Amino acid sequence: MTPTIITDVTSFVLKPDKHNLVVVKVQTDQGIYGLGCATFQFRPTLVQAAVDDYLKPFLVGRDANQIEDLWNGMFYNSYWRNGPVLNNAIAGVDMALWDIKGKLAHMPLYQLWGGAARAAIPAYTHAVANDFDELCRQIDGYLDAGYRHIRVQLGFYGGKAQSLATPANAPEGSYFDPEQYASTHIKLFHDVYERYGDRFQMLHDVHERLQPAQAIRFAKAAEPYNLYFLEDVMPLENNDWLGRLKTQTSTPIATGELFNNKAEWTNLLRNREIDYLRIHVSQIGGITPALKVAHFADAMGVRIAWHTPSDISPIGLAVNTHLNIHLRNAAIQENIELPSNTRSVFRNAPQVVGGFFYPIEEEGIGVSFDEEAAARFPGQFKEHPWTQSRTPEGTVVAP
Ligand code: MG
Repeated sequence: MTPTIITDVTSFVLKPDKHNLVVVKVQTDQGIYGLGCATFQFRPTLVQAAVDDYLKPFLVGRDANQIEDLWNGMFYNSYWRNGPVLNNAIAGVDMALWDIKGKLAHMPLYQLWGGAARAAIPAYTHAVANDFDELCRQIDGYLDAGYRHIRVQLGFYGGKAQSLATPANAPEGSYFDPEQYASTHIKLFHDVYERYGDRFQMLHDVHERLQPAQAIRFAKAAEPYNLYFLEDVMPLENNDWLGRLKTQTSTPIATGELFNNKAEWTNLLRNREIDYLRIHVSQIGGITPALKVAHFADAMGVRIAWHTPSDISPIGLAVNTHLNIHLRNAAIQENIELPSNTRSVFRNAPQVVGGFFYPIEEEGIGVSFDEEAAARFPGQFKEHPWTQSRTPEGTVVAP
């Protein structure tokens, strides 16, 4: 095959709406370019430096056709590896290389990988409110739009504590009480289930707010309400407890958005300690490793629900859609409606229709990026208070 030589690699940090997004563009001597999502909203300029200062000099002059070789080259080239900054930078390039390959083949990515495993992938979205009535108003709207899977959260992650017993001079932070959070949400599941029955299936993200014994109790108490899955029930660092949790509850367990490398998921999958794998594709280095872990999960009977929050660009959203159309063990796709500025920068972003994402039929990833429009929204970093979460006595915990 004629080589497709990489002539330039460019990165962009932009904040069109609530989050900083990072986009990578790889250009070639064939007049074809590719786009990738390298979004790490809490450290965007570090990803940009990794692309501009280290990956670009490594890549220019090489053959874009050899994705497998280039991925491993980028991954091992820094010697110290497996971190979110470098993985996101690699992912931006990796997705752009797959975009180029799809354009060269005149195929959408899901066709390049072997075609569709299904007609469409079901979507779920988020209902989050400070009180039950407002939450129900949101649920009603989503049901009318066709969703049959809805994540429910009362208050922000950790809930809204009724009272907090904190010591004098407690340091600043985003406080929550794990016990109050747990009891409030079990009551919420009960109330929602009583009102809606089987009209839709709830999902819930604990966001690492419980310790192992609390998590086991919570997952068991949630059983009567038939959750689709319960996500991140305890901090990542406690994942060795998941096997014990799994033997004690029938509530489906999901985790994975914080994973960086295969050492973190191999045993969980091999031992069937989770039901759904929630990997954030750019966080592990892009499409190349995502296809491999998805096939491994399929062999273990674990299903895929790629992390697709609001801090992902529409390019990443489209990549997840291609993966979900193609992979037999893909289960469901998270969705948060794209805000208007983001839509003005990225064209042809996938959209939910009647509760489903349908196959993207454009060549490659299929989303375009308007660089002039992006320049109107420069990146801007502000510390997020919720990333400094504390339990009532003042201890910093996973946010
Ligand atoms: Mg999550």
